[in-house]
Amino acid sequence: MITPETRSNPSDYGLPDENELLARIAGYFPEFSEPPATSYSPTVVPLGSGYRAPTHNASTPPPKSGNALYIGNVPHDKVRADFPILSEKVDGKPLVWLDNAATTQRPRAVIDRLVYYYEHENSNVHRGAHTLAARSTDAYEDARKKVAAFIGAPSADNIVFTRGTTEGLNLIAQAYVKPLLSAGDEIVLTILEHHANIVPWQIIAEETGAVLRVAPVDESGQIILSEYAKLFNHRTRFASVTHVSNALGTVTPVAELVAIAHGFGVRICVDGAQSISHIPVNVTALDADWFVFSGHKIFAPTGIGAVYGKTEVLEAAKPYQAGGNMIADVTFERTEYQKAPNKFEAGTGNIADAVGLGAALDYVSSLGIENIAAYEHFLLEYGTEQLRTVPGLRIIGNAATKTSVLSFVLDGHDIQDVAKHLSAAGIAIRAGHHCAQPILRHFGLEGTARPSLAFYNTPDELDFLAATIKEIAR
Ligand code: PLP
Repeated sequence: MITPETRSNPSDYGLPDENELLARIAGYFPEFSEPPATSYSPTVVPLGSGYRAPTHNASTPPPKSGNALYIGNVPHDKVRADFPILSEKVDGKPLVWLDNAATTQRPRAVIDRLVYYYEHENSNVHRGAHTLAARSTDAYEDARKKVAAFIGAPSADNIVFTRGTTEGLNLIAQAYVKPLLSAGDEIVLTILEHHANIVPWQIIAEETGAVLRVAPVDESGQIILSEYAKLFNHRTRFASVTHVSNALGTVTPVAELVAIAHGFGVRICVDGAQSISHIPVNVTALDADWFVFSGHKIFAPTGIGAVYGKTEVLEAAKPYQAGGNMIADVTFERTEYQKAPNKFEAGTGNIADAVGLGAALDYVSSLGIENIAAYEHFLLEYGTEQLRTVPGLRIIGNAATKTSVLSFVLDGHDIQDVAKHLSAAGIAIRAGHHCAQPILRHFGLEGTARPSLAFYNTPDELDFLAATIKEIAR
């Protein structure tokens, strides 16, 4: 493959004409289908210092059997009981947490893991020859292995810890893409992107004279693949795309988008902030060059996330920040850097929360992400049906492949008022632009009300949501 690092001039591309291109796309996928099946198999890596996370024993998914709900073969009420905050009352009402696209709640296993870390393992990592340094380093590096296993990365060396998706995208923009850019070069995005997957590219484009090209969506909120492919040309240096839209819930055909970008010798980043907790991800099967996600979107603490990069892009990227931990040798004349991932982890990282992220991935794996996806599919369909019974309610985003998000507007009602009324009933949803203004404006809106689901939600909660919106509609 010709890559941005190896290409010396545009004719290296062998740019195809329009017909050849469309034939090529047709060959990738005769019609849009679910993201390709992956060889995902979660691995639970034993922890270094004696802590063992409790596990469920999930297998195949009947989400509903009679009136009982299951995730895999785990009864749903048992799963809910793992999340202490779900028993919380707000203003005297039982909490109904439907703001999962903003952040998820933490299971007891993650909370306990943080307590265990601080009670038994806390130390700085990679330095010091004492027992606690060894414990914390083991716990931190075990968490990195768990991330690699969870997303199907070939090695823990391909995983860089960051504060989250936003920092990950800024890292990739500054450390890898900016040095590739000259005036007139192009970066391909889509109109579905979260601001975190727009602004970092805009900044490096302004700094270098590069331009952003933006792929459109159809009326359902799905990327139009033929239009996407047309954006690539000999000036394209990079592409970045969301796996799942946080505003609409659209699951994008990301394997096809990767194949299109690679067909033009262009590297591509996948923003996994909204896919990571809902559908299986295998970066190796997807052939993504970069993949980023945030821990707090998958039941882990805030302030921790991960960047996956193929070995060659991690090698090509410059350091993002500089200081301790990322160097092999320093003199006043020159500095030799560590290899990835340490090259990108200057200073003391968020050790405890990385360990918490490992515990969250163990928890999700113990239920089985395929089982979670099956349950949530059932829940999204159920919720969609219920909301459709509300007079004057219009669901925004109707792609054939969707997950988790039920964005809507209600005739004659301000979305902030809808969210306030729901909050008074104990139901937490988000109302606003969801940091995705371009896609909402494409639908002629400045905001939507957005309930968003996780596997601990129930059909009863969605009945209550629909009934409460009906009260507002009256
Ligand atoms: N990308 C998408 C699709 C998101 O939904 C979000 C957050 O909602 C982000 C990026 C930014 O994530 P974070 O704020 O955790 O860095």
